[in-house]
Amino acid sequence: MSELNLVLMGPPGAGKGTQAERLVDDFDLPYYATGDILRAAVEEESELGREAKEYMDRGDLVPDKVICKVVMERVDSAEAEDGFLLDGFPRTSGQAETLEEALDRRGRSLTAALLIEAPDEDVIRRLSGRRICKKNGHVYHMDFDPPKNEGVCDQDGSKLVQRDDDKPETLKKRLAVYHDQTEGLIDFYENRGLLRRFDGTRQPDEVHNHIRATLATLKLEAEL
Ligand SMILES: [Zn+2]
Repeated sequence: MSELNLVLMGPPGAGKGTQAERLVDDFDLPYYATGDILRAAVEEESELGREAKEYMDRGDLVPDKVICKVVMERVDSAEAEDGFLLDGFPRTSGQAETLEEALDRRGRSLTAALLIEAPDEDVIRRLSGRRICKKNGHVYHMDFDPPKNEGVCDQDGSKLVQRDDDKPETLKKRLAVYHDQTEGLIDFYENRGLLRRFDGTRQPDEVHNHIRATLATLKLEAEL
């Protein structure tokens, strides 16, 4: 039985979340979003959670080694023995190396790093067009799914607002950080022949079919 040990990468707004949901369904993989599992570890007050919390409380970044341990705790669980989908870790080539070593010690390795790409202008157009209704959080898009009356929710008549995270200035900063961190990570996986690129500007169904076909091929190759 071959494992599907996957890392998912891509800028905000490239459709990573949608694709992750579908992959989890297709291949029956556990999905580990780093932010979520770190928060869970802190809430459970596990030893690692307490360690991570000390850094967070001081306003420091949680060190790679600690994040990696939290991730590996999940990777070592029974549900992940045939594979897993990581999102949000690794974020840098240093973290990728730490993960590689940790997997190596277990006689495991990554199957692929999936990169969903979209140009910055595309991401900014997609996310900055988003409007949220104040009352119930209904989501609209100025270009793709506009309300009947400008600035007003169709369902409850409340005012539509733009989240701070979706403002072009904030997005540009987030994207700059993303590129800064990810370039080295992309090189890291490219050098190891693990990187698979997908065009996030295409329809979600097309992207999904492309990823699924790629993974099916990888699985087949591994079983030969
Ligand atoms: Zn509403």
